Amino acid sequence: MPLFDNHGRPIDYLRLAVTDRCNLRCFYCMPAEGISYVPKEELLSYEEMERLLRILAKMGITKIRITGGEPFVRRNLIDFLGRLCKIPGIEEVHITTNGVLTTPYVEELQAMGIASVNLSLDTFDRQRFKKITRRDEFDRVLDCFHTLLAHNVPTKINTVVMEGKNTQDIVPLTELTRQHPVSVRFIEEMPFNGEGNHYPALVWTHQKILKVLKQHYPAMEKIADAPASTSYNYQIPGYQGTVGIIAAFSRTFCGTCNRIRLTAQGTLKTCLYDQGVLNIKNILRAGATDTEIREVFERTFRNRAKDGFEAEQRRGAQSVSESMSTIGG
Ligand code: SAM
Repeated sequence: MPLFDNHGRPIDYLRLAVTDRCNLRCFYCMPAEGISYVPKEELLSYEEMERLLRILAKMGITKIRITGGEPFVRRNLIDFLGRLCKIPGIEEVHITTNGVLTTPYVEELQAMGIASVNLSLDTFDRQRFKKITRRDEFDRVLDCFHTLLAHNVPTKINTVVMEGKNTQDIVPLTELTRQHPVSVRFIEEMPFNGEGNHYPALVWTHQKILKVLKQHYPAMEKIADAPASTSYNYQIPGYQGTVGIIAAFSRTFCGTCNRIRLTAQGTLKTCLYDQGVLNIKNILRAGATDTEIREVFERTFRNRAKDGFEAEQRRGAQSVSESMSTIGG
């Protein structure tokens, strides 16, 4: 039985950040000098994460996304993934990665039945990649993309659309869907950059992204969106893949939100825009039983903000500015 929140929405999807560390420095996510990472002992251990996942799986979580920071920066991730895939009740394990360290593991990911990989790629141009990520890793990411396809791992490309940075990439990235069965998703930039808002107002809204796509591909058709999907999806006739637009800052999809987040330091978030609503690590380390942990989860899910705007309001003066690397996207 799925668990329902106080607004009648089922909660069956957990996004788990296994680290806050990253090997890229994407300017929209972190300052150039990086963020102060939490000490290792403050991160949830794999054993602690597994215990929480087993409890949540019994409560109705069926889908998990492993994210970070960059998940493959954490040692022994692959063993942990193998164990996750075997937890009773967990039907799908997905991964979001920047692809820099991922390629050597693709075969194992496929063998263990990883449901899909979201690869973050904001441009198809090496120089722009270096400028956006502040690292020269384009070739390794491209290699990861081709390796995922070669192993038939269902793959999505995540692209944050940014004024003056990569809007010229919208069409070339969409063209990937001509030959490849991938989903390319264009995401509105959010202010989770570790230093506060760096734009006065969002320029590349979901409407503006759609307008560019429609101008270039007048025959592009709307296709059905999966239940609780955050993306509005389209397909260009004759193309193998699909294109999605995620209104992450406009927050048009909160009404069907089925997801919760656990940060690497054990903070539960019931909305991307909240400040963290529960420190589950402290409860766990204080010796709580599985039943006590379950009860505290249930109480927290019954006090969920209606949408991202209400969650942001509840933060009071603490405006959204933390690095997405601490949350996991
Ligand atoms: N390191 C992994 C990766 O790059 O995919 C996983 C973590 S990363 C924080 C998850 C996703 O969040 C990436 O697709 C990234 O582009 C997105 N993201 C980070 N900061 C963002 C921002 N300010 N606005 C929109 N998306 C953002």
